[in-house]
Amino acid sequence: AATVHQDFIRQIVRDDLAANKHQAIHTRFPPEPNGYLHIGHAKAICLSFGIANEFNGWCNLRLDDTNPGREDPEFVEGIKDDVHWLGFQWHDLRHASDYFEVFYRSAIKLIEDGVAYVDDLPVEEMRAYRGTLTAPGRNSPYRDRSVEENLDLFRRMRAGEFADGSKTLRAKIDMASGNMNMRDPAIYRIRKVTHQNTGDAWPIYPMYDYAHCLSDALEGITHSLCTLEFEDHRPLYDWFVDRVDLPNHPELWQALRESGFRTEPAKPRQIEFSRLNLSYCITSKRKLAQLVSEGHVDGWDDPRMNTLRGLRRRGFTPAGLRLLIDRVGVSKQNSVIDYAILEGCIREDLDATSARRMAVLDPIKLVLTNVPEDHEETLHFPNHPKDESFGMRDVPFAREVWIERDDFAEVPPKGFHRLKPDGEVRLRGVGIIKCEQLVKDAGGNLIELHGTLDPTTRHGLPGADRKVKGTIHWVSAKHAVAAEVRLYDRQFNVPEPDDEEDGKSWLEHINPEAKRVVQAWLEPAAAKVAPEQRFQFERLGYFVADRVDHRIESPVFNRTVTLRDIWAK
Ligand code: ATP
Ligand code: MG
Ligand code: MG
Repeated sequence: AATVHQDFIRQIVRDDLAANKHQAIHTRFPPEPNGYLHIGHAKAICLSFGIANEFNGWCNLRLDDTNPGREDPEFVEGIKDDVHWLGFQWHDLRHASDYFEVFYRSAIKLIEDGVAYVDDLPVEEMRAYRGTLTAPGRNSPYRDRSVEENLDLFRRMRAGEFADGSKTLRAKIDMASGNMNMRDPAIYRIRKVTHQNTGDAWPIYPMYDYAHCLSDALEGITHSLCTLEFEDHRPLYDWFVDRVDLPNHPELWQALRESGFRTEPAKPRQIEFSRLNLSYCITSKRKLAQLVSEGHVDGWDDPRMNTLRGLRRRGFTPAGLRLLIDRVGVSKQNSVIDYAILEGCIREDLDATSARRMAVLDPIKLVLTNVPEDHEETLHFPNHPKDESFGMRDVPFAREVWIERDDFAEVPPKGFHRLKPDGEVRLRGVGIIKCEQLVKDAGGNLIELHGTLDPTTRHGLPGADRKVKGTIHWVSAKHAVAAEVRLYDRQFNVPEPDDEEDGKSWLEHINPEAKRVVQAWLEPAAAKVAPEQRFQFERLGYFVADRVDHRIESPVFNRTVTLRDIWAK
């Protein structure tokens, strides 16, 4: 059922549309291509793309590539792929670097208007002049340069005449402002670094606060949604948007449109919402990058990682992640969402969408001595207990089956309803079996169980209704397919790994049990599948054929999530 969202941002959008403030809603998602997207980004994506879809507007994907050197085309491709995977389509794909010329001309306009100047203070001194939260800053000695001198110096900065860091273009606002962001923030810095899109064309690069709001204005973004840490930047956002005033200055961007760009500048409005924080997780690209570079994981797509790639490889579904974002909602309240809520959303989606299969992860053999040695039989199992549209599958049965080692207890604890010496249990879809003999090696280790099948208890036969307490799953030993199964769990073993107050580095909280690999036996119908196919392995959890390593000849499955919360206290 479609959810009706009632959050404050959608209310603003509704009001704006009702007041005819905009003809259509335009949003954007502006990641910096310096890493892969993580679960936190899923919130920003679902919000900006979701609102655009709900109100028949559009959303651009804009790569905020104003920091050359930290950015990589590999990440650009990854980001595009992840947004599509989550289920969204962008209207235009843009790069902030597409606008470098517009930004430059806009800066010249600011200089001409007397509200920007070239400063020669070195970075450290500029910082000292900035003051503190309790003390006002001081004006730079270069603040009163003439417009002509500023224009000349800025053009020469652009021409590459000065060394990195030797000059900065700054906005002339207010060094005594209570908002530190308004104390003559930098607009351009000199950095002779090759850019992945513009090469060596630019020795100067615009600052985020300047480039971001002008990109929004240029693309006609009506609602620019971002996280709360930008709240203090909003006055600066509005300052640049108003001072440059792109809608009324076509000379600044006409050339862009003539080159084929769809551009209809408007005055955007920035609205902040709280970040998604998940317990037992890290949502910082820098730290995720560190996990990769220091080898704590096997890459950005390691299923332990809460990158979208990692979650995807782990078997999480786009619908499950969108459900999480719906449940969490949108507000200005910072909070940490329990990882169990994410798992619950994924289970909910996978329960409805995954066919069932049988797999044995820690096998012990059970020989049914009253089943003839050459007996072979094909049973028919429904693929889904609650949804007939999933159809049926063939499950081979024979005298020897694998069962889970922990479905048998020689000395059963109280309340144990599975197999025990002389006990009975139902073998799923086969009938009731009785354990009659334990076969042990010289060292006393259990190697095999022998038992008998009560043939009258088969489905459809008179004894079928005979009650036993437990039902266990199994795989015919003769038909079983060997598989590697990777059992994943939470990446960190404390709820807030990057809480620095405990005096420990977040790296010390890595859960060493977050990945365990076992050799398992699968029923044949679980093996002949394509990568990324998902199943519920009955009684064990949801699993996915690994999108990189799975082969029909050598299956590899990842555990997405257990059937029940194993972390609940
Ligand atoms: P990180 O701090 O992990 O590097 P970022 O905010 O620097 O993330 P960007 O690529 O700049 O990464 O993010 C693109 C957009 O995603 C931004 O608008 C940002 O506000 C949003 N975003 C990032 N992290 C989260 C989060 N945890 N929850 C919601 N939105 C987020
Ligand atoms: Mg960022
Ligand atoms: Mg950041």
